Amino acid sequence: VYWPSVYAHRWLSWRLFTANEKLKELSITDALTQLYNRRYFEKHLEDIWDIASRKNVQISIIMCDIDFFKHVNDTYGHLVGDDVLKKVAHAMKISLKRSSDFIARYGGEEFIIVMYDTDIKGAQELCTTIQSNLKDINYIDSNNSQIKPITLSFGISSIIPSTDTNRESLIKHADIALYRAKESGRNCIRMDEIV
Ligand code: GH3
Ligand code: MG
Ligand code: MG
Repeated sequence: VYWPSVYAHRWLSWRLFTANEKLKELSITDALTQLYNRRYFEKHLEDIWDIASRKNVQISIIMCDIDFFKHVNDTYGHLVGDDVLKKVAHAMKISLKRSSDFIARYGGEEFIIVMYDTDIKGAQELCTTIQSNLKDINYIDSNNSQIKPITLSFGISSIIPSTDTNRESLIKHADIALYRAKESGRNCIRMDEIV
């Protein structure tokens, strides 16, 4: 056996493997917040939908959106806005309790959480935990001065997947609930039952 060539081969295949893993990671995560991206959320919901419908298990989703975020950008600039986004994302991530809880950045300052085997009440509890963790964040502007606390509005919807329901309607109802939370003055939790 000619060892150096074996080592070279191993080294190369290891390098290709790690490069591949990196690519995979890049394609499913959001660079700014390090949460999963929207594309991976779609894939995750598709997978979990199939499992839940086979097992007759309830899933809940939470859509949330930072309140008056445009004001943060306009007042303190985009870099501070980006920092706020990162901190809010982190506070949300550490609020998740189960390994099956999933969170992604859905859009600019919108996030989505998918909870397997969880009812509306369970989803509400998570929202409350997030609200409480948000209170602990210390936001600073470019002069290192403290800026006022950031709040989120939450919309929850819940379903036991079946043949006459679909993922789109689950998302649509969470979106309707989120809209109601905004209309009710923001910094609150609303739900929309699927009937
Ligand atoms: P509301 O309480 O109704 O949600 O008001 P809002 O100001 O949060 O909502 P709006 O949709 O008007 O503004 C969202 C802003 O988020 C606009 C956009 O410039 C900003 N935004 C989106 N993505 C990013 C980002 O990655 N970084 C920064 N700094 N801002 C972002
Ligand atoms: Mg907003
Ligand atoms: Mg928004």
